[in-house]
Amino acid sequence: MRSCGACVPLKLSVMTIRRGIENALERIESARQACGRTDPVELQLAVKTRSAAQCQEAALSLCALGCPILLGHNRVQEARATADAIHEVEGAQIALIGPLQSNKINQALACVNAIDTLDSSTLVKKIDSRLDTPLPVLVEVNVSGEEHKHGCAPAEAMRVVDSVLDSHMLLFRGFMTVGLHSRSEKDVRSGYALLRALYDRAEKDTGIANLTLSMGMSGDMEWAIAEGATRVRVGTAVFGARA
Ligand SMILES: *Cc1c(COP(=O)(O)O)cnc(C)c1O
Repeated sequence: MRSCGACVPLKLSVMTIRRGIENALERIESARQACGRTDPVELQLAVKTRSAAQCQEAALSLCALGCPILLGHNRVQEARATADAIHEVEGAQIALIGPLQSNKINQALACVNAIDTLDSSTLVKKIDSRLDTPLPVLVEVNVSGEEHKHGCAPAEAMRVVDSVLDSHMLLFRGFMTVGLHSRSEKDVRSGYALLRALYDRAEKDTGIANLTLSMGMSGDMEWAIAEGATRVRVGTAVFGARA
């Protein structure tokens, strides 16, 4: 296991990633204060296209800063290629935050710790039948109605939640959405408010406390936090532009 102790030599890239993480944490903190929230908001690093070394450095930096070590991968293939390096950091968790095709389920289950993009009862059944240990999942909802977006329709979300609750090995942990791609604060926030309402309803209906509400990215995390996000997913604001 790699530790985050002071003995880890700090390379320049570590400092840069760490600085990016610190900046993101400052934005989260300001946004929390601006809307008077006292509950925590987690930072999950969206690490698509980043190398195994960068992912590991990011995990070590989160560890050193005392944060939960949450990394999200969009593609199963990239998760596989970086999982060993990431999991060398004690406590590091990899979530799949991109769509899961049926033919990649086994590969995904071999390297991720959570699936944040469950969007159908069919997928629930397919995954559940291959698990022999519990797996935390988020239900992904398409709040913007944009056609190219993944996620179930808001009206179907509770049905997908029910199928997770009925499964043997999937643990319902909350909701995730990719918000509307727009500069309109009002339009983006109304999608987030919709998911927040589903989240409140699910907490009430299931009696499960501390569910996750994963919404907001580099460009709009303040809006998502104002609407109640308990986790934001940040890539470019930490690592810089993707190639
Ligand atoms: C890439 C990605 C993010 C992060 O986006 P940035 O704009 O780079 O912060 C968040 N969530 C998902 C699902 C992503 O694919």
